[in-house]
Amino acid sequence: MMTEREVLDVAEFLGDGISPELSRSVHAIAAALPLEVRFHPVDLTLERRRAGAEAAYAEAEAAIRAHRVALKYPTVTEAESPNKVLRERFRFSVIHRPVAVIPGVPRRHDGEVDLHIVRIAVGGTYEDAGRRIGSEAAVSVRVIEREPSRHASEFAFHLAKRLGCGVVSTSKYTIQKATDGLFEEVAEEVATRHPEVPHRAELFDALLARLIMVPEDYRVVVCPNEYGDFLSDAACGMIGSIGLGASASYSFDQHGEVELAMFDPAGGTAPDIAGRGVCNPTAALLAFAMLLNHCGFRGLGGLLDAAVRHTIEAGETTADLGGTLGTDAFTAAVRGRLHAELAGASA
Ligand code: ATP
Repeated sequence: MMTEREVLDVAEFLGDGISPELSRSVHAIAAALPLEVRFHPVDLTLERRRAGAEAAYAEAEAAIRAHRVALKYPTVTEAESPNKVLRERFRFSVIHRPVAVIPGVPRRHDGEVDLHIVRIAVGGTYEDAGRRIGSEAAVSVRVIEREPSRHASEFAFHLAKRLGCGVVSTSKYTIQKATDGLFEEVAEEVATRHPEVPHRAELFDALLARLIMVPEDYRVVVCPNEYGDFLSDAACGMIGSIGLGASASYSFDQHGEVELAMFDPAGGTAPDIAGRGVCNPTAALLAFAMLLNHCGFRGLGGLLDAAVRHTIEAGETTADLGGTLGTDAFTAAVRGRLHAELAGASA
């Protein structure tokens, strides 16, 4: 029996549009947990950034360095992309994006998608916008580095071990022999350190086709930056939604251990519905569930994830999913299920 409530400190990066409503929903759920969650808010709204972006980002950095984990809500991109600034500032090198079917959400594909995409968050083709050579040609540089490849691969193998499944590494290693070849070389090295986790490499184009035909063959997939980007959206299309998921970004210390972790809901600031109390907080709640898992509260993270899914499956949804509930009513429905599941878990 728990005598004293455990404490979890979380930096909370507040953004624009529906961000305050998402935060309110997360706080309501946190209050229902057998855990004291202390949020440390940092204002990253456009207004605050216009008044002094550097000070806002410095405050965000101090908060995440103090507490090691952060929850970030959507922000408007104006002068700069806050996501890019934070990614560079915190040296995030790996992004983990789970994509799983949510029963009750309409979709065209009827396969069992339960995928964890682990992506190198730096390099690939995204670091260099390229340059024109005369008027008829252009070039850009593509970068693959050993260290982030190792971090992503280690993360994928640890995750697979926990889930009791294998790892598929994917790239175009037969064409991009030097760059993707280096990534696959590192993935193979990491695989030899985890002999209990099955590993296979697949060409990325073939993987896309097979994922659509036999999605149940894929659970943890690790890949370079741009392939992970394409794969995440393709998988979201298969489950019928690009806005209901969450992702985690990680940086690592010199021993390869996670140093900082930031969790954020997919989807944007939805300015058209902001302030009306109708937005769907699913992605923010799933991001919070990932944060709980990361911080060692796996039981609670799992229960929250399940409570959100069961609520949607029961048809208790917000308007974007065809339901009639506002943000607070949906949150209350999730909270009710969570209460029931917590009672069941401790019975
Ligand atoms: P941004 O520029 O921040 O990406 P956007 O409106 O261009 O904002 P989204 O925020 O992704 O892009 O919104 C796209 C559409 O999806 C909008 O009509 C928006 O209302 C809707 N939407 C986005 N997030 C949610 C949510 N959490 N709940 C309900 N509808 C949402």
